[in-house]
Amino acid sequence: MDDRDGKIWMDGGLVDWRDAKVHVLTHTLHYGCGVFEGLRAYETPQGTAIFRLDDHTRRLFNSAKVLRLKVPFSLEEVIQAHKDVVRANNLKSCYIRPLVWVGSESLGVSSKGQTIHVMVAPWSWGTYLGEEGLAKGISVMVSSFTHHHVNATMTKAKSVSNYTNSILANREATDNGFDEAIMLDPTGYVSEGSGENLFVVSKGVVYTPDLSSGALDGITRNTVITLCGDLGLKVVEKRMTRDELYVADEVFFTGTAAEVTPIRAIDRIEIGAGSRGPITEKIQKAFFDVVHGRNAKYASWLSLI
Ligand code: PMP
Repeated sequence: MDDRDGKIWMDGGLVDWRDAKVHVLTHTLHYGCGVFEGLRAYETPQGTAIFRLDDHTRRLFNSAKVLRLKVPFSLEEVIQAHKDVVRANNLKSCYIRPLVWVGSESLGVSSKGQTIHVMVAPWSWGTYLGEEGLAKGISVMVSSFTHHHVNATMTKAKSVSNYTNSILANREATDNGFDEAIMLDPTGYVSEGSGENLFVVSKGVVYTPDLSSGALDGITRNTVITLCGDLGLKVVEKRMTRDELYVADEVFFTGTAAEVTPIRAIDRIEIGAGSRGPITEKIQKAFFDVVHGRNAKYASWLSLI
């Protein structure tokens, strides 16, 4: 990904893609104390727009706050950086990755007194779990790895270090022929996917694990909860068990990368009819209408670049 044309916003300005580099003694590279976001820009009738840019940037700043990292730019400056870098790369639709990290002044464990850096990089990225996955559903396994506890590396923060847990679960799943993993919290209740929130449909009601499971407070999760209200679907946030998933009518993942992806099997047990369910399809359609600017009610969630 490093050897290509394009621009990356780094520490206050646009730099050539190939020059956006850090030193090998970068603190975050050694200890994982950094925070990031993932956003998408979509084509809309009004032009390219970044979905829920303000909310993602607020979450980035909150993640930094939790890890005691002082972002050396204002919220407004980082918001503008996203728009500038998408425009500079001539992208009509893309994934956007901002990152806040600790510099290379010292390699003591403490991040105190070290410089804090920010970058924003956009690139074209199609569906995360495949076009076929979006239409027909994916096959997932319940991971043997436990989701990290709410009082370990902090689950309100979308922090770099949290993703070792995700990578282990995802690798275990994909190396075993599954598309993705679901992790259980330290008490055995359902938490989330390696990079997605989870929803369950049972007897017409939509359920999702509450955030005490350590699941990320996902922006797509929040979007789906809001859209369920419009669709007349009741949503309940609660503790959920593994076997509740097996006997559900429908299960699906949400996330900026994964969008709304149906799950057709868990641990090789077919969910419902073993394909995308009708309620998942309705929610998916409502989601894509919003991100593509086809629902005027949510125009404020779209930031034109
Ligand atoms: N959980 C995890 C662990 C994630 O990495 C993501 C992706 N950011 C999500 C949930 C979904 O969050 P969002 O909808 O804000 O992208």
